[in-house]
Parts: sequence; structure tokens; C-alpha cells
Amino acid sequence: MTFHIITLFPEMFDSYLGESILKRASEAGYIDVKFYNPRDFSKDKHKSVDDKPYGGGPGMVMMIDPVLRAWEKAVSQNFISKIFSKEKKVKTYIFSPGGEKFTTHIAKHDAQEYTDIVLICGRYEGIDSRVKEITEAEELSIGDYVLTGGELPAMVFLDSVSRQIPGVLGKYESLEEERVSSHEMYTRPEHFEYKGKTYSVPEVLVSGHHKKIEEYKKSLK
Ligand code: SAH
Repeated sequence: MTFHIITLFPEMFDSYLGESILKRASEAGYIDVKFYNPRDFSKDKHKSVDDKPYGGGPGMVMMIDPVLRAWEKAVSQNFISKIFSKEKKVKTYIFSPGGEKFTTHIAKHDAQEYTDIVLICGRYEGIDSRVKEITEAEELSIGDYVLTGGELPAMVFLDSVSRQIPGVLGKYESLEEERVSSHEMYTRPEHFEYKGKTYSVPEVLVSGHHKKIEEYKKSLK
């Protein structure tokens, strides 16, 4: 899967993608992440990427031309899929607090369906609406709150979609998830003392009785 990220702040991604599972996934070739900065595609001498909104209102709006050029560059890259002789299937998303709510269901679907996903990160008050129309993008929200930009949403999306790609998680972790995963979990020690009180792991989990353990985990859902 190739993620093409259109952002004014590509460096924001370095530390998150440079560690742990996502780092391994990209080293092993399961994912590839490319960046396109609209500022590099701006044609005026000040490298402007934003302007005042038509009709007035607070804040600034990301201009159509630099974002669209960055997007064109992203969708015209096709050498990877040629290597694997796989037909390219591209999807474009624009992050917006008013978009469709991102879920694991979307992550699973997209991981199977597409070879390339273009993620457009907004800043300021958002992006000129004609970008959505021209790119036929879908708007995605990661939750009912407003952030200062689409970079965190892009990282959330990338993380969640990547772990649905076979091979990204270790075999053990993915099997665990297919079986019963629960939001309640414990590890050693079995009994933990804190301020005179003992906090113990539920007995069933240390019983070694696999059927009862599964039933217990199901009952938590
Ligand atoms: N004026 C806009 C908010 C802009 S927030 C409005 O009222 O809808 C700036 C940018 O941050 C957005 O363009 C979007 O890309 C991103 N963003 C903020 N919150 C988000 C969320 N919950 N989900 C996805 N993207 C978000």
C-alpha cells in the first residue's frame, strides 16, 4: 500500500513513522509513505498556499492550485504498481471534521481495496472546496472535535489501515485479534500491592481453562 500524504508539514510525520511497527512495515515493504508539500507547487514568488475566504469570515483557506498540483503529482506516480504488475486502485480522502466518521470497517475495506491512498491534510480553516470536486475525494473525520490540522488524522488513518495489511502485525498479534480481543487486559504480576490494597488479576484468566477464558472475554464486550 502506498500512502501519498499532501501536507504543509511533512516533518510532523517523522517521529511517528520512524518507530515500532510502522517503521518495520515500511522497511519490509508492506507500506510506502510519500509526501507532497503544496508549498513546493505554489507558483507565486512568495510560495503562498493560503488566502482569504470569499464571502468573508475568519481565518484563511488553502488555495486550490498548489493542492491540486500536489495531488496530480501523487496520482501520476505509478512505478511501484508496475513492478508488482498490479492494477493501480487509487482513493483520495480530504480530512475534515464534518466528513464521514473513520472506523475500523473503513480501514479493513481500504486495506483490501486500494493500492494507493492519497490523504489531503487541511490547515487553517480548510481547503478550497473545488479540490474535493475535482479530485472526487471523500471527506473523512476522525472524531467529533476540531484539530488544528489534518496531520494527526492522517497518522491515525495510516496507522489503522496499515495494521489491517497482512504481514504488518506479527502472526500472533493478528491471530489474537481474529480470536477474542478485549479492552480489558492484564500482565504480570498477578497480585499488585498499592497503598495497602491488593489488586489482583481476575481468577478466570489465570485458571488455564481456555474455554472459560474465551467466555469471560466475550462477556466483557
Ligand atoms: N473551519 C473548519 C475547521 C478547520 S480545522 C470547520 O469548521 O470545519 C483545520 C483542518 O484540520 C481541517 O481542514 C482538517 O483537515 C483538519 N481537521 C480538524 N479536525 C479534524 C477531525 N476531527 N477529523 C479530520 N480532520 C480534522
